[in-house]
Amino acid sequence: MAGLPLRLFNTLGRELQEFAPLEPGRARVYTCGPTVYAYQHIGNLRAYVFADTLRRVLEWKGYEVVQVINITDVGHLTSDMDEGEDKLELASQREGRSVWDIAAHYTDVFMGDLAKVRVRPATVWPRATEHVEEMIEFARALEEKGYAYRLEAGLFFDTSKLSDYGKLALLDLEGLQEGARVAPIPGKRNPTDFALWRASPTDAERLMEWDSPWGKGAPGWHLECSVMSMKYLGERFDLHTGGVDHIPVHHTNEIAQSEAYLGGAWVPYWLHNEFIGLGETKMSKSKGGTLLLSDLERQGFHPLSYRFLLLGSHYRNQTEFTWRGLEGARVAQRRLLERLRERIPAGGEPLAYDQAWARLDGSARAHLEGLDAAVSADLKTAQALAVLTQLSRDADVPAGDLAVLVAAFEAVLAVGLLDLAPEDLDPPARELMLEVGEVERLLADREEARRSRDFASADEIRDMLDRLGVEVQDTPTGTTWRVRPAVGQREAGRD
Ligand SMILES: [Zn+2]
Repeated sequence: MAGLPLRLFNTLGRELQEFAPLEPGRARVYTCGPTVYAYQHIGNLRAYVFADTLRRVLEWKGYEVVQVINITDVGHLTSDMDEGEDKLELASQREGRSVWDIAAHYTDVFMGDLAKVRVRPATVWPRATEHVEEMIEFARALEEKGYAYRLEAGLFFDTSKLSDYGKLALLDLEGLQEGARVAPIPGKRNPTDFALWRASPTDAERLMEWDSPWGKGAPGWHLECSVMSMKYLGERFDLHTGGVDHIPVHHTNEIAQSEAYLGGAWVPYWLHNEFIGLGETKMSKSKGGTLLLSDLERQGFHPLSYRFLLLGSHYRNQTEFTWRGLEGARVAQRRLLERLRERIPAGGEPLAYDQAWARLDGSARAHLEGLDAAVSADLKTAQALAVLTQLSRDADVPAGDLAVLVAAFEAVLAVGLLDLAPEDLDPPARELMLEVGEVERLLADREEARRSRDFASADEIRDMLDRLGVEVQDTPTGTTWRVRPAVGQREAGRD
């Protein structure tokens, strides 16, 4: 058997480790899902494209993967600590619809977005509200083992009962203070203690509440992930993923309550993706001042160009979203499709990992080794894309081998190599609207690039503006721009 072992950066221990599954040939993965009270912006989608890449690499290497992504439809408060109000209940008040309508609507949009960026559907999508009984059982077991105590506010987990609480986040417990802005919960024994069950207030009615041994109330947010992951993946499973924001509180508390419940180690591998900044993007933000996949589509981008952009940086790198970057990704993806289309007949030939190694030799095998080396080194997708670009230019690879290779790259990267035509990435022929401020900002960026003799970037910005319907003209007195007339008008003018 050829091929390299998969090495992953484990947040637990902060080091690269070779992946060894608990059960040979099988990988069980839990991915923290969305709280369905609002649209997921394009930054949120990175967590799922990253988890999907992990899954695709595991599957490509021959593992049978079981993946669970939860849908949080109760219990997530406006703060990740136990303060504030339930996000679903707030959204219900804001939008004047039931919590159930809210959850159904945002879940549908989320699933639709994932499908558009070709994130494979999870094996199971458990919803928190459908597992409250099991959560109560889990919390009761913790109480019986002496890990929990009752307060008026509900049932709380006593983090001082664990000698290694905070090991994931490397928390400095001595230095931890309960947030000064928020009134502490009366009776809490330690600042890090968290709610397993939140009792309903006696003076107000909650929209979502259940009976429990601790009175009417709702489960804590962390509890749902421990309970639903164990239910569908077994008490101990291989990998747990999520955004870096989950490390200090949510995942730390999941580990604490799960290891207390099991009486020993829980999940061996914890993988976290970094953020994508949306700060500089002023253009075309949707409701709530954030940027959605549908905004990208409205600007004429194919959703897979966004996936291509994401894969162009490592999942553990913090990056900043820019329209320029997205346009650069689109152009690179289009060129790739063009070069490949010239050389392979439509449709690749998917071969299993072992079969591909057995079949390929010479320069074709070198490209397979390049792909394997990139993704086996902590999912280096940008490096895999670079190898793919080299492959698309390598005239020595016979067409049959090329088809096998392209199918392998597509299995891992899912950027439309087998079914998209280059033209599918082009913006539709219509006038696209830009805000004046955004045009001015892009032109200033271009001017800056030209001053620093970065002509490639300058041209890229000009191309992007052109694509968005803005004509740029450089004159001896400076740069001017105008919105290009719509196609119909232009033809009329020419006649
Ligand atoms: Zn979670």
